[in-house]
Amino acid sequence: MSMRSVIRFASWTLEPDREPDAEPVTYAMECAVCGRRSGAGVDFQDAQRWAFAHAGRNPSHHTYREVIHRPWRAWMR
Ligand SMILES: [Zn+2]
Repeated sequence: MSMRSVIRFASWTLEPDREPDAEPVTYAMECAVCGRRSGAGVDFQDAQRWAFAHAGRNPSHHTYREVIHRPWRAWMR
């Protein structure tokens, strides 16, 4: 049996990585008008504060995207 056929018939599971050594979930906000983006951090409030400040400096920039990076892991049953 070739390695390729082993992979084809294997059953994989994909789930959010909650192991102690997993990368952290990070949040950022991106302005949908100009594309500027806050730094990514583990505290969503930092991203929210960036959006408030950005809107304050750019009163016509009303729409934002939340950018979440969430680690996942794949494992074979
Ligand atoms: Zn903007």
